[in-house]
Amino acid sequence: MNFDYKTRYDVVVSGAGVAGVAAALAAARRGHKTALIEKQTLIGGLATSGLIFIYLPLCDGCGKQVTFGISEELLWRSIDFSPFDPPEQWGGAKGGKSYNWTRFETFFSPAGFTLSMDEMLKEAGVDLWLDTMVCAVQKASDGKVTAVEVENCSGRGLVSASSFVDATGDATVIRRAGGAFEHGENFQSLWVMEHTPETVAYPFAESIRVVSSGDKWCPENRLPDATNSKNATAFTRKNWEYLRNKYRAAYASGKTDRYQTFPVHLPAMPQFRKIARIKGIETLGDGDEWTHFDNSIGLYADWLNHDIVYETPFGVLIPEDVRGVFAAGRCISTTGSAWETYRVIPSAAMTGEAAGVGAALSVEQNCDGSELKVDDVRNALRKNGFKFHFEELGLIPPAQRK
Ligand SMILES: Cc1cc2nc3c(=O)[nH]c(=O)nc-3n(C[C@H](O)[C@H](O)[C@H](O)COP(=O)(O)OP(=O)(O)OC[C@H]3O[C@@H](n4cnc5c(N)ncnc54)[C@H](O)[C@@H]3O)c2cc1C
Repeated sequence: MNFDYKTRYDVVVSGAGVAGVAAALAAARRGHKTALIEKQTLIGGLATSGLIFIYLPLCDGCGKQVTFGISEELLWRSIDFSPFDPPEQWGGAKGGKSYNWTRFETFFSPAGFTLSMDEMLKEAGVDLWLDTMVCAVQKASDGKVTAVEVENCSGRGLVSASSFVDATGDATVIRRAGGAFEHGENFQSLWVMEHTPETVAYPFAESIRVVSSGDKWCPENRLPDATNSKNATAFTRKNWEYLRNKYRAAYASGKTDRYQTFPVHLPAMPQFRKIARIKGIETLGDGDEWTHFDNSIGLYADWLNHDIVYETPFGVLIPEDVRGVFAAGRCISTTGSAWETYRVIPSAAMTGEAAGVGAALSVEQNCDGSELKVDDVRNALRKNGFKFHFEELGLIPPAQRK
């Protein structure tokens, strides 16, 4: 194939969601020439384009912070341009607008978060490519990924690198490289920004709030394969239909009208929670909470339930059958309740940072991720405040409690 342009980096991160931003920051801060390639003209992925506005907790729900590093940095930067704060006991402003949280979490403005992340990428020297779609992957004869093919308004480009991170949210790079993956299951769910005269529990600004369609978990609303673009289109249009029906019914009821209640902004990404996850050399799944992993590269706690903490084995970032790429964010190798726990913003940032450090070390040591010594990865992460094991934080797994 003839390319319109060719360029080379040390590290290429595909997908500028929260995981990709964290990965690119981690690699660039180690001094590597790093590209971050994003198909939209926004960064933040589902967290911003999807109109999500809750930075879920960094703590275990029992008073202990378990997740640190860029994940915490992003939480604080997410409120740079927003009226919200985490609770005061976690360092939020005294008297701040923190809803009634007890955990270390916060609301944020998706637009404001985009502005802050862009500033962080700029400060770190990351080369951000917007409006650029990763379309194909090139591999060497030993199976190692050597380049991604991209398409943008300048034409078809070849972007090569020594190491890659797949932070596409759906494992596009690893799937295109022939890697094994598993589908996630989705159901109708739509977050939309609307104008409303109602008093709301957590307004964005006066009269503006994000509303959810509610989670319709019933058989006819299930979507087994969100990697199929026809399915993704049908799913999204079904959500739009839901909205039309909702507004028309509200107007017909006479309780409100189009002058008072109307949509302001729709999500620019399909509202899928779990699209595809890689099959890694290790997988975190049901029953793995409170399990010790010698090679843990970070901790994350269940964001919904209290007192459920996971150590994260390094191998969940490394595909079993593709070399030269790390997975980051919601497409890492997790299943069942672990996937449900790890598919959110703070854990995406945590695994993103670990993948970015791994990619940087692979460049420095000229090796594949599977050949890295996990202690090298952990030493780098530890310098940024990471903890890896329960005992470092004085956490005792329930089975060992008296
Ligand atoms: C309805 C709903 C509500 C949610 N609520 C919350 C919540 O309240 N709090 C919370 O913490 N989490 C929430 N989540 C989950 C959370 O927002 C995401 O799972 C998380 O942000 C995922 O981050 P990520 O970086 O792994 O992936 P993504 O955000 O999916 O980022 C992937 C990025 O890669 C880009 N990309 C994909 N393919 C390509 C390609 N081929 N070339 C170039 N770029 C590409 C995408 O455009 C995107 O920007 C919610 C999710 C849904 C669906």
